[in-house]
Amino acid sequence: MDKLTGFVDKKGKAWDMSQYASLLGPEATIQSYRQGNLNGMVESGATLGRISEGGSANTCSVCQKWAGQVVSLTGDVPGIPSIDEAIEEGLFHPNCVHMVNVISSDAELDYLLSLNQEYLDYLMQIHNILIL
Ligand SMILES: [Zn+2]
Repeated sequence: MDKLTGFVDKKGKAWDMSQYASLLGPEATIQSYRQGNLNGMVESGATLGRISEGGSANTCSVCQKWAGQVVSLTGDVPGIPSIDEAIEEGLFHPNCVHMVNVISSDAELDYLLSLNQEYLDYLMQIHNILIL
């Protein structure tokens, strides 16, 4: 039997096994770390997180809209998009450099939201409500 050296994925892309392993290894680790991190935050009572800044336009263009923004970890905070929405829009794509950090106080939330009028405008637009 021939040794398996690669495969073609559902989208028709041909993968060499070493390419695939180099992608899957770290990525699987990162994804499970992120999920564990999120679960831990919610279990400890956190409701809000902030998506990390960082990543260049080239490595993470899909996340530019979300970088530095405040998200609801539980999806039940009026006026704040949920982490699931961010993920659906592409956050945490393969090789994503972003993480979520918990926001622990109202004062910190007020401060973060005050930083970015564009973000407030965006929230009001998509949720059609006023926040703060
Ligand atoms: Zn990203």
